[in-house]
Amino acid sequence: MVGTLHTRFSERTLDRLSAQLMARRDAICRCLESLQLELTDAAEHRDCSDLLDESSVDDADLGTDRLLLAQARRALASTTAALERIADGTYGECATCGDAIPLVRLRALPDTRICIDCSRAIRKHAPEHEDWDDGWTTLI
Ligand SMILES: [Zn+2]
Repeated sequence: MVGTLHTRFSERTLDRLSAQLMARRDAICRCLESLQLELTDAAEHRDCSDLLDESSVDDADLGTDRLLLAQARRALASTTAALERIADGTYGECATCGDAIPLVRLRALPDTRICIDCSRAIRKHAPEHEDWDDGWTTLI
C-alpha cells in the first residue's frame, strides 16, 4: 500500500507539495509568534484596563486571539503531520476511507487528511468537529 502511494505522485509533485507545506508551516509559525506577543501584551494591559473599566472590550479581543492561537496550533500540527506523511509515503491517502485524495484537493489543502466525500460527511454529522477543520486557509 505504502509503495503504491509513493509512485502515485512524481518526485516533482511531492517536492512542490513539500515546499507548499513548509511555506505554510513558516507562515503559521510567524502568525503564532505575533499572536503570542499580542496575548502577552493584552494580558499586561488587562491589569491597567481593569482600573479603567474597559475590561469587557479587552476580554473579547483576548478571546479572539486565544481562538486564533488554538486554530494556528492545530494548523501547525496538521501541516507538520502532512510533511511526515510525505516522508513516510502515506501522503494523499484518506485517513477515513483509505481512498486516494485527488491531487487537486491536495494542492488546495496540502495538509488535508481526508477526501472531499469524507469531509462532507463529517461536516454534516459533526460540524463542530475541529480536528478536520479546513478553515485555516482563510487566515493566511
Ligand atoms: Zn475518504
